[in-house]
Amino acid sequence: CGIVGASSHRNIVPILVQGLQRLEYRGYDSCGVAVHSGELARTRTTSRVADLLSQVESDHVEGLTGIAHTRWATHGAPAVHNAHPHFSHGLGEAVDGSSNKPARVAIVHNGIIENHEALRDALAARGYVFSSQTDTEVIAHLIDSHYDGDLFEAVKATVRQLQGAYAIAAICRDEPHRVVGARAGSPLILGVGTNGEENFLASDAMALAGVTDQIVYLEEGDVVDLQPGKYWIVDRAHKNVTRTVRTVQAHS
Ligand code: GLU
Repeated sequence: CGIVGASSHRNIVPILVQGLQRLEYRGYDSCGVAVHSGELARTRTTSRVADLLSQVESDHVEGLTGIAHTRWATHGAPAVHNAHPHFSHGLGEAVDGSSNKPARVAIVHNGIIENHEALRDALAARGYVFSSQTDTEVIAHLIDSHYDGDLFEAVKATVRQLQGAYAIAAICRDEPHRVVGARAGSPLILGVGTNGEENFLASDAMALAGVTDQIVYLEEGDVVDLQPGKYWIVDRAHKNVTRTVRTVQAHS
């Protein structure tokens, strides 16, 4: 339903959670945030975004890179284990809390993956263990399955396998300053930080009101790679493209 992502040199948890608050009017059944803080850490709740905020404050969740989501369930009941961000711990991971193997990939997703059952069967056959009933979790494991040191490349390979509608944002344990996004059928925008040292993603420019008014409306099939002082966009053919940065008045 709602997506916010950020790559910066400052703690971005307040920006992520305030961004979710600006998207609350759209409705949601659960919400969550994941950050890179050495490892990937996440907090999820079926309560309000205000409660997510108290939870991240009491847990001291902080990071320079992160993603956040408000979910409106389409596949899998509204429940904490189905709330985004979804993790992939890699092959053969026990997801019952008994293992200490850290997560490698975290993702948030708006939309519906139509071929999620076939992808799920193939990933499970390879040894990926699922911890939710969502269509979204296949994306996390697909990115992990394609990961070879470059999250941008892994996401580009993943979206070729997806059918349906999606806007996604992903982070990776092995690349602490990077957020990768992609869209097809669901909106996603890039917010260019005004200090030249941070970049943002959101499903709606309104989420970034007060943070930046420099917005790139990503086009169908675009994949975007964000780092603190730079970004790249490729189009649906995965060719480098330059998209116009627009100054957008925030309606808050
Ligand atoms: N289909 C996904 C889910 O059920 C995403 C729903 C949304 O857009 O919030 O988890």
